[in-house]
Parts: sequence; C-alpha cells; structure tokens
Amino acid sequence: MQKIGNYFAMLCVLATASLLSLPASAAMIDTIPNTTFISCYARFPNPSDLRTIITPTYAISADYEPDDLVLLPEYVGYPVTLSKDIYVREQVAEPLQAMIAEMWDLGLRPSIVSAYRSYPQQQRVWDQWYAEYGERARDISAIPGTSEHQLGTTVDFGSPEHSHRFYTTFYLTSEGRWLAENAHRYGFVLSYPRDAVGGLSTYEYEPWHFRYVGVEFATYLVEKNMTLLQYQHENLAAPCIPARVVPRNVR
Ligand SMILES: [Zn+2]
Repeated sequence: MQKIGNYFAMLCVLATASLLSLPASAAMIDTIPNTTFISCYARFPNPSDLRTIITPTYAISADYEPDDLVLLPEYVGYPVTLSKDIYVREQVAEPLQAMIAEMWDLGLRPSIVSAYRSYPQQQRVWDQWYAEYGERARDISAIPGTSEHQLGTTVDFGSPEHSHRFYTTFYLTSEGRWLAENAHRYGFVLSYPRDAVGGLSTYEYEPWHFRYVGVEFATYLVEKNMTLLQYQHENLAAPCIPARVVPRNVR
C-alpha cells in the first residue's frame, strides 16, 4: 500500500504541477502530445531520453524496439561477447568500447553476458526464472515489458573469475571492483545497488547490471550518491497509469 500511495502521489504531482521545472520529464511528456495518462504498457520511450523509468510498475510497450541497435562485436574489437550476437543502441557502443579498451589495458578481462533483450526474449528469461523460483522470481528477474534490457542501453558484465556467470559476489572480482568505481566515467551507472539510498531498488543486488545514461548525468548521480531509480522517483513522474503487473504465467 505504501508504494501504491506513492504512485498516486506522483500522479497528483503530474496533474497539478505539470512538471514545470523538470526539463527531463518534460522531454518524456512531450513524446505523448496532449496525453498525460496512458497505460504503462502503452509507453514508447523517447529514444533521446536516457532516463526513462522502467520498473515492475512502469512498463513499456511489448512493441518497443530501439531503431538504432548495432551488433556489439563489430564495435568493441575485443572478444568480450563470448561469441554471442549481442546488441546495444548505437550511442552506447562507443563509450562501451572505450571503457572496455581501458579495462583491457589494465589487464582486466570483462565479458558482456547480455545487453539488449526484446520483449519475447525477456518473456523466455522470465519463464525460466519463474519455472525455477515461482513468485520469488519477481525479486530476481523482470516481467516482460518491465526490463531495462528492452531499452537497449543496459549491459550485464561478467568476469573470468566467476566463469562469466551471475553471482552477487561479482563486486569482489577484479572487473566488478573496477566497474563499481569507474563505470560512471563512461556514462554507466549501477541500476540495483546493494544499499540503495532510501531503500529504493527494484530487484536484489545486481553488481553486474549497468545502464548507460551519459557521462554528465552518471557523474552527477555518483557525486550526489543517488541511484538512478531514486532520481526517477524524485524527478520523473512517469507519463502512464501504474498498474499491478501480472505476468502471464502467474494469473
Ligand atoms: Zn541485467
């Protein structure tokens, strides 16, 4: 109920204040002319807005697919994708390449285990988690339409010290430690930290999951000791009607 109350409060702010002093929010709203409230599942993120909120409550359309996806192995120049076809949005590829180049020079060997995932791909991921963990899957994986990976700006890193698999102790690996301290210099921030300020996090700690938001904004968040989600809740009222999301296999 606490969360629901927050969302209604947010909607009230949206309705009454019209986001007059929030340029980033205004940019989001401008993508939906003459519309203030739509279903979250009808949202199409503005491609130029790297701060789009997307959580289990604030979904995006199943039809949303970035139109500037590029095949990462062709950009990066290092064998980091473990021979997999991995896609990101074009504006993410260059800073990612630069960051990996610096890591490589330092003797680090990061992998990119996952990046863009379409709605159907996320459905398959969710189905696997749900089959194994049931309702607890909500704390671990995103219901289709609510994953930051559908934005094409989010990357999951791996480390050879963990055989490139997802373990919470990724933060203890050489690659994890470097990313935690330096990723913002290339515009990447950790979406789901262990100790999110104010208790704001969507999932359990994911030290491998980084989202590209641009160098200036990533640096701002680090300097303010603020997570992206905290910023979104405080500054970006979502232009949609929050709804309890029920995955198809939990009905
Ligand atoms: Zn991830």
